Amino acid sequence: MTTIETENIECPSCKVEQHVDVYQAINAMENSELVQWLFNGDINIFKCNECGHEAHIQLPLLFNDYRVGVKIQYFPEQWLADNSEGVCNDYLGMLAKMGKFRDDFQSNKLEDLLVVFSMDVTISQIKFRTQFFDMANSGMND
Ligand SMILES: [Zn+2]
Repeated sequence: MTTIETENIECPSCKVEQHVDVYQAINAMENSELVQWLFNGDINIFKCNECGHEAHIQLPLLFNDYRVGVKIQYFPEQWLADNSEGVCNDYLGMLAKMGKFRDDFQSNKLEDLLVVFSMDVTISQIKFRTQFFDMANSGMND
């Protein structure tokens, strides 16, 4: 499921607070257009209405692609620095739900949940795993 939450975010530049829609989870099968936005760096970007400052929003993002069997949890690197215990507890909670993900996915191709701390790595992992899945599958059909 794709989920969006409205957050109160303070502009890092002019300190004016504003409501921003933040993606918490992206389901690639439900909303394939969001994958392209993510690749373009247009997901969870803060654009200040007051001063025009732009910044990546430092909040976690969960990416699911049930077709390929990719599940990636992004945490901002700062979260790991500030609260590594909280990150580990979140990870434990996600592992507990992996059984449900496997049932939904209905395949044995699923890689384990991947936790990353960089948006660039998130994007390159999605590209790599999608490409690999498509190549492996077309190979099997020959
Ligand atoms: Zn601002």
